[in-house]
Amino acid sequence: MKGNISPAGILERMSSAVGNPGIPSPLVAGTDPYAILVGTVVSLRTRDAVTEVVTKRVLKSVPAVADMAAVPVEKLSELLYPAGFYNRKAVQLKKLAQILISKHHGEVPSDRKALEALPGVGGKTAACVVSMAFGVPAICVDVHVHRISNRLGIVKTASPAETEKALMLYFPEELWTPLNHIFVKFGQKICRPQAPRCGGCCFKEWCDYAD
Ligand code: SF4
Repeated sequence: MKGNISPAGILERMSSAVGNPGIPSPLVAGTDPYAILVGTVVSLRTRDAVTEVVTKRVLKSVPAVADMAAVPVEKLSELLYPAGFYNRKAVQLKKLAQILISKHHGEVPSDRKALEALPGVGGKTAACVVSMAFGVPAICVDVHVHRISNRLGIVKTASPAETEKALMLYFPEELWTPLNHIFVKFGQKICRPQAPRCGGCCFKEWCDYAD
């Protein structure tokens, strides 16, 4: 990144650029750990608007871990459609709920390693759940966070896992949890995967990627 801009200044500029970001889509249908875990799994490879509709529908029909463990996979697939990979997510969510009952007393664990051992839960999902559901500072690195961080030049990394480690060194801990939602909105509106809007971007003087 060219010139001086503080980590907090980066988030402030992004926030101003995107306006009111609303609340993260996995939180729209509920704020208990089970609802957040389901919403986060649904959100993978799925647009926010679809995540919100689908997560509400799933939680209305399958409101608790025990219900998820018992629901037929075919029924769950129907509820999850048109979320990305809805058939695979149906299998994963049912299996995940069965493991929560057999190994975690029917509760969502607050430990990242335990979460990452669940079907369909990778590092990004685990970070989102511990931060949103349990208030544990964590950086949820999705494709937007990875792309924008590298374009700006605040990290030079090849994978989201590397980006997470680098961003944890770059940003102070109090900014870890809000970072994802602001980066995602900035990535949807301005620093898009294709044809980023560099001409009107508030980072064009500093950004390594801008012309
Ligand atoms: S200048 Fe372009 S590449 Fe850099 S952050 Fe802005 S939109 Fe993204």
